[in-house]
Amino acid sequence: MKQVVIIGNGISGITAARNIRKLSDLEITVISAETDYFFSRTALMYVFMGHMKFEHIKPYEDWFWKKNNINLINAYVNKIDVSEKKLYLSGAGTIEYSILILALGSVTQMFGWPGQDLKGVQGLYSYQDLELMEENVINVKHAVITGGGLIGVEMAEMLMTRGVLVTFLVREKGYWQNLLPEEESQLVSRHLRSHGVELKLESELEKIIGDENGHVVSVKTNHGEILDCEFVGLTAGVKPNIKLLEETPVETSKGIMVDLYLETSVEDIYAIGDCAEMRMPEEGRISIEAVWYAGRMMGETIAHTVSGHKTAYKPGKWFNSAKFFDIEYQTYGNVGNVLHAGEDKFYWEDASGTRCLKFVFDKETNILKGINVFGLRMRHEVCDRWLRENRTIFYVMEHLKEADFNPEFSSKFDREILDKFNDGGFGAEVVLSKNQSVFSKFLGF
Ligand SMILES: Cc1cc2nc3c(=O)[nH]c(=O)nc-3n(C[C@H](O)[C@H](O)[C@H](O)COP(=O)(O)OP(=O)(O)OC[C@H]3O[C@@H](n4cnc5c(N)ncnc54)[C@H](O)[C@@H]3O)c2cc1C
Repeated sequence: MKQVVIIGNGISGITAARNIRKLSDLEITVISAETDYFFSRTALMYVFMGHMKFEHIKPYEDWFWKKNNINLINAYVNKIDVSEKKLYLSGAGTIEYSILILALGSVTQMFGWPGQDLKGVQGLYSYQDLELMEENVINVKHAVITGGGLIGVEMAEMLMTRGVLVTFLVREKGYWQNLLPEEESQLVSRHLRSHGVELKLESELEKIIGDENGHVVSVKTNHGEILDCEFVGLTAGVKPNIKLLEETPVETSKGIMVDLYLETSVEDIYAIGDCAEMRMPEEGRISIEAVWYAGRMMGETIAHTVSGHKTAYKPGKWFNSAKFFDIEYQTYGNVGNVLHAGEDKFYWEDASGTRCLKFVFDKETNILKGINVFGLRMRHEVCDRWLRENRTIFYVMEHLKEADFNPEFSSKFDREILDKFNDGGFGAEVVLSKNQSVFSKFLGF
């Protein structure tokens, strides 16, 4: 019988394993070096903050795998021999495969900062990083985090629950400005400051300074400023984990190159999740999408192919969600940090400056292209449908209520949003339809 071996027990590898089991009676083995069982990486912060125990972020009971005849091995794969179809495991011998699925995830980006290996300096990606953070945070009064992305904000929130003062160094003029448009970036920047984060914009880490025991004591910024700190968080992004492929013929660029069917350049080897780089991404999508939903969708897709029904990866309309302290964020379709040629936008922000909604649409056809929403939650299926059905901005405004996830809460803003739209000179008066309206940190379950 064919032996399917999956390296990586994150969302992509585990989704593949579960779905292959549903669709076939192939032998399935999942090898991972991080933990015995799958857990929700997106919820690691809640374990640190004491909101949940580690057990709570494991979506499946430990018996689930045996019952479903999915073989789990906790080991590190050192080497892949593609001609013999064999894997070499650290301290656990070798294992042969008929089909190999690489679900290797990401690793923290390190830019070779002087002092990045000092004690008290770390990134946040793995369960081991979480354990290290528990050790490193002891007696810390001041931390410096560098890199204006999502993981940095999570780290800031985690540290602040332990009474640590956080200084956040962000290279751009506003938080996450390489992705967020100006208004949204300003909203999040204000929000971080209101939570007590010292946000230093247009500031970069130049070097990390240690004491005689090799522990961090301060950092120096590109402006020559010295900031005393006992903890440094390096959160300037992640990159595909592709080291294992170095001595193999499997083609890599930034990630592991895959085609529409998630096939690598070597027969019977596939790559999914954060480590995969699409040769030809769908229009409006990027080649590496290091997010939970993409990993899950790739896992589902590969299961069909491996089980005998060759299936192309069709990610559909882009969606992602996150949380910035207590502000929820959702994004649908294409909202660039600046408008592209031929695009127009409608932007509403409430009086408190903590909620906003942005629609990007085509200037000529008025067809909706993307949505950003902060502080309100919209119904995923409705927003996704508007985009798939090429609805115009006028239709969307008229049917706004349909997308309210929590009508009692959101409906008071619908009127305000519509009034602003009608005042905005978009060329047509819109009234709300009678359709009824209907949002927690995303745990990824
Ligand atoms: C703190 C944090 C918060 C996040 N929040 C969000 C969010 O809110 N929304 C969102 O969409 N995404 C979020 N993400 C991103 C999301 O978690 C990832 O996109 C997703 O987990 C990637 O899944 P994966 O299956 O591709 O890889 P991973 O989950 O990284 O799993 C890969 C596994 O393979 C193992 N492995 C790698 N190489 C080997 C080897 N040689 N031998 C054995 N095992 C190996 C690794 O140890 C790891 O366990 C967050 C990420 C982090 C770190």
